[in-house]
Amino acid sequence: LLQAKGIKRNYGSLQVLKGIDLEVGKGEVVAIVGPSGAGKSTFLQILGTLDKPDSGEVWIEGVNALGLRDKELARFRNEKIGFIFQFHNLLAEFTALENVCMPGYIQGGKKEKDIVSRGKELLDLLGLRERANHLPSQLSGGEQQRVAVARALLNSPAIILADEPSGNLDSQNALDLHKLFFKLRDDFGHTFVIVTHNEELAEMADRRLLMQDGSMSE
Ligand code: ATP
Ligand code: MG
Repeated sequence: LLQAKGIKRNYGSLQVLKGIDLEVGKGEVVAIVGPSGAGKSTFLQILGTLDKPDSGEVWIEGVNALGLRDKELARFRNEKIGFIFQFHNLLAEFTALENVCMPGYIQGGKKEKDIVSRGKELLDLLGLRERANHLPSQLSGGEQQRVAVARALLNSPAIILADEPSGNLDSQNALDLHKLFFKLRDDFGHTFVIVTHNEELAEMADRRLLMQDGSMSE
């Protein structure tokens, strides 16, 4: 489903990624751990096609993502990849439902009615039905992060990439969020690559990969 081959990335003379390979199958939950500055976020950005490696390839559902032109790539990314970040990155002036629907509007070619019904369905699924018309500032941290999860799922992406998704949550909310990831995998076959400092989550994952010194190991 997702393949990264020989990913290298330098910042000036700093070799952050020294040739990383990763294969992720459908329905897998993969955790990437490693010390601060190891290059986890850099790698995730490259998997998400938000950053380009100096060399290497990223394949998603059989498509060579780095071979796409900018406009095609933006569309491909919005359709195939869901992102969840440490800070929810919700748009402050839009309601929970509007935020969740955003990837649907961006994609174009979808009926507003279908986008909204999908958005409501996801909010229901994540226990946020009563929060649909709240602004992000009117939601708790855990709720904000669940809205971000719903947004990531809107276009039914092939893969969901999460960078420290529970880094800003207390331990109970973090555990609930982690359970949600596994529920989404078990019930819908969603696929996750999650960068985390949370050992509990790393242990729950199907694979725990360690990024260190520019390389990744099991
Ligand atoms: P953390 O656990 O603290 O989030 P990380 O493993 O995600 O760390 P990265 O953010 O990928 O680490 O950074 C890897 C290295 O690359 C660090 O040494 C960082 O300073 C450097 N780096 C990241 N982005 C840039 C940039 N845009 N320009 C220059 N150096 C960068
Ligand atoms: Mg990081």
